[in-house]
Amino acid sequence: MNKKRLVLVGLLVCFVLLATLNFLGAYPPCADEYPDWQTSPYVLPYPVGESYPLYQGNCTLGGHHGVYRYSYDFLMPIGAVVTAARGGIVFEVRTGSVDGGGSDNLVKIQHDDGTIAAYSHIHDAMVAVGEGIEAGDPIAWSGNTGQTGGTPHLHFQVSTCSEPVNCGTLPVTFRNVGEERLVEGEVYEAYPFEQP
Ligand SMILES: [Zn+2]
Repeated sequence: MNKKRLVLVGLLVCFVLLATLNFLGAYPPCADEYPDWQTSPYVLPYPVGESYPLYQGNCTLGGHHGVYRYSYDFLMPIGAVVTAARGGIVFEVRTGSVDGGGSDNLVKIQHDDGTIAAYSHIHDAMVAVGEGIEAGDPIAWSGNTGQTGGTPHLHFQVSTCSEPVNCGTLPVTFRNVGEERLVEGEVYEAYPFEQP
């Protein structure tokens, strides 16, 4: 093997190695251990009795990777009622975009442990910053704002700070669903629940 070829092969090996490391960094596997669903502080983010499919689950090759890997997308039509998955104080409200474009309209709620849930792509908010909210309270109408890929859905995530780019997302289970891990494509009914 001549010198030139050796250098080329070396570069190729380096490239493949770096690409692999980059891929593993961006798409780390989901945690093996999720919080116990039966004692979870969270319920599904839609009204009791309603059922919606999980459009995108955790740790996917779609939008839910890297810092967003513990996000959930529920396939909800524009105008469907979104409810709080956990009680807290409304931390942020963003509206003004119309369905089909713009940036995300969203509601963020801060819980008593400091974590913050985000409800994104909504059509409009029903709440204002500073309002106290209980789990199950209606907070928004689902929509199709921001980068939805053209499909109306609700994006839900929980973080330890307001922007996941700074702190990532946390694995979340829901106590009114009857299962620990939600599977993409399955339809989940929100069962009755008690406040924590
Ligand atoms: Zn999403």
